[in-house]
Amino acid sequence: MVEVAAKRKVSYQLYPSLQQETLLLALLRSHQQLYNAALEERISAWRKQTLSISYADQCKSLTVIRQAMPEWAIPNCSSQQMTLRRLFFQRARQGKTPGFPHFKSLARFPGFGFKSHGDGWSFVPGKDWKHGRLRVGGVGHIKCRGQARQGGRICASDLLYRNGQWWLSLTVEPEVIVRERTHHAAWGVEHLLTIADHEGGSSHEENPRWHRQQADEIARLQQAVSRKKRGSNRRKCAIQKLARARSRQARQRLEHHHQLSARLARENALVVMEELTIKNMTRSAKGTAEEPGKNVRQKAGLNREILDTAPAQLIQLIRYKVTETGGEFVDAPTRKLKPSQTCPACGRTARKVLDDRIHGCPCGHSEPRDLASARVVLNWALFGSPTAPIRSGTGRDRDASGNPVKLHPIA
Ligand SMILES: [Zn+2]
Repeated sequence: MVEVAAKRKVSYQLYPSLQQETLLLALLRSHQQLYNAALEERISAWRKQTLSISYADQCKSLTVIRQAMPEWAIPNCSSQQMTLRRLFFQRARQGKTPGFPHFKSLARFPGFGFKSHGDGWSFVPGKDWKHGRLRVGGVGHIKCRGQARQGGRICASDLLYRNGQWWLSLTVEPEVIVRERTHHAAWGVEHLLTIADHEGGSSHEENPRWHRQQADEIARLQQAVSRKKRGSNRRKCAIQKLARARSRQARQRLEHHHQLSARLARENALVVMEELTIKNMTRSAKGTAEEPGKNVRQKAGLNREILDTAPAQLIQLIRYKVTETGGEFVDAPTRKLKPSQTCPACGRTARKVLDDRIHGCPCGHSEPRDLASARVVLNWALFGSPTAPIRSGTGRDRDASGNPVKLHPIA
């Protein structure tokens, strides 16, 4: 089980008062001067004596300087160390050949950072991480506006100055959610998602009602464009209308996918999905002249449906949120497993055509096709086979002697 949640960045815009802005700019200048001075020291040491000054050396010098000159002791010490660190690690991190960095003018100096929360700074988020207040030592409490999709433990921060605006970029470690249920979600055709759980239950997620309406509206606007004369103003106008409707649709869909994936991540410790190659799924059924394809029109309609729901985006969000919150996301190998052609009760395989929406097996097992596929995939992840082992325990995750079944090791 993955227990380490990845750190993430969350940003807020700062709204400092006039006085605070002056103080922030003074801090920015001080960091910029420190950066250039430290760079100067490294370059001249190298030129004069071919001496290489390390980050640790410069941190020691900083301590001496802070004691000797009070104006250098105004900014937070570990914040200054972060600026020194940038001299050594920035270029290498960007994937370029590490070399001497360049001197930076105040206008090109991006900002400065803080290390551990509470060391010269702190951030108190508002309710549900909407807006908040940032305290910076020597500057005071600054109003922040913005909203994090998910909060967590605050680790570090960067104060960035861009185009006359101040931004706070927080590094947070998402809280690991302890979940009770283990589910599996398989993306289906009939519903947006068909979900099978490890206790034999099932559910499904639908597209919201506005989804269909939007699709109709877009089709109407597309027709409007094609009726207008090429190069005419009316056509331009219609194209703009269509573009706006499309971007509205994309925005709403993304928002819906965010909500749905966040909920799935909250509720499920393990999510297994078919490794879908959208390209294969939506390949035209036309075939070749020698070998014409079957069900061309049905397949075309299905392709439209599939692309309309943006499955890749949804899968990506689910994978990201499940992993980020300490859950496990597993890709089931569709081609090897053939979930849609395998019986989750007896393991028998039989070809199905696109029209067969119900899985019916000679063994007597019958259920909707998407759900049967979901079970095959879940069984594979939990037990290493398309079928679940026979057990006498209460839950489906127990073996014959009632012990919890170990997860199938995933290579
Ligand atoms: Zn069967």
